[in-house]
Amino acid sequence: MDYSGKKSVEDIDVCGKRVLLRCDFNVPFGADGKIADTTRIDTSLRTIRYLIKNRATVIIVSHRGRPKGVCRPELSLEPVAAYLSRALNLDIKFVRGDIRDGAPESLNQLKNGDIALLENIRFYKEEEQNDREFAKKLASLAQIYVNDAFGTSHRAHASIVGVAAILPAVCGFLMKRELEILCRALTAPERPFVGIFGGAKISDKIDVINNLLEKLDVLVIAGGMAYTFLNALGYSIGQSIFEADKIGVATDIMAKAKDLDVRIVLPVDNVVGREFTADTDFEVVGSDSIPDGCFGLDIGPKTEQVFRDIIAGARTIFWNGPVGVFEWAHFRHGTFSVGAAIAANRGTMSIVGGGDTAAAVQMGNFANSMTYVSTGGGASLALFERKDLPGVAALADN
Ligand code: AMP
Repeated sequence: MDYSGKKSVEDIDVCGKRVLLRCDFNVPFGADGKIADTTRIDTSLRTIRYLIKNRATVIIVSHRGRPKGVCRPELSLEPVAAYLSRALNLDIKFVRGDIRDGAPESLNQLKNGDIALLENIRFYKEEEQNDREFAKKLASLAQIYVNDAFGTSHRAHASIVGVAAILPAVCGFLMKRELEILCRALTAPERPFVGIFGGAKISDKIDVINNLLEKLDVLVIAGGMAYTFLNALGYSIGQSIFEADKIGVATDIMAKAKDLDVRIVLPVDNVVGREFTADTDFEVVGSDSIPDGCFGLDIGPKTEQVFRDIIAGARTIFWNGPVGVFEWAHFRHGTFSVGAAIAANRGTMSIVGGGDTAAAVQMGNFANSMTYVSTGGGASLALFERKDLPGVAALADN
């Protein structure tokens, strides 16, 4: 799937037009009811600014959480409208009116350069059903559709796919950049290309590993899933997390890697705990001497060094899954050392995917040093699994 040739907002004339802009404002909120991380909003500002500078009228659509077609005030986008107003230093109209009854009056009053944000689109059950009539109502609010919500583009929803079939549909800047980076890594990665896979389970990663394997030069397997590989090689893994039904899968991947001349790298040492708890006693042991009752909870220092050397020589890196139980302070050293090594390799294209990996990278303060951090995971993983992204496929080609 090469989506890098999609038309962007710069390829069409938006002056004096009403633009329906799909953003991903599904931001995390803290217990205090305030936005905990504004990154997703901040990254969309470039497209919004471009549109208003070019005298378009901007009507923004987003979802927040999973209200499942019911109006849930705690999932309102009103706090996002307030934040946007501050960030842009402009008055943003927040529109609560039901768009199924026709365009709310406040939308009709908008002038060129004005911005409105509609209430959480998933308050309408028709959104996730990709209801045709609903998509028509949404489309009737504007003359052009711009999608800047890459993270939701694997969903065939009305505000993603339905409207794109009705209006001229193009990418925003954020979407364009994400597509260019991810498609370049998929179609013409600079070599060496290193894939680092960790996390709890092989099952979640298998499609991506299989799809990327023939493109990789080095496949690094760590985290909980490494223990199924080590077990398949005949090592004793104590009580470490392990998927008995995936031994065949692990063996197949190792055989395929050998056939394709891909170097496969597993941990040579591990930080093991007596119990699976944050404050358990722990020690460093070789992968060939994991004690019977112990749990492998992180990579050891020798493995860290091996990974650092591999990362230092890489030109493209895809990292999905923490290499240890990074949520616990004693077992995050390995994950942070991977993050630091990627951050230090300035010349490399680094793509970090998956919710937990993104959280680890934020926690270690490495996010700004990565080329691309995908917080959602869904859409970028789908792309790496070679699945079609209906929301992107629906956009016009150049
Ligand atoms: P995933 O969503 O598959 O990327 O898995 C992320 C989870 O894997 C995180 O919550 C980590 O705590 C967990 N994880 C990483 N290494 C290990 C390990 N050695 N044992 C158990 N869980 C692990």
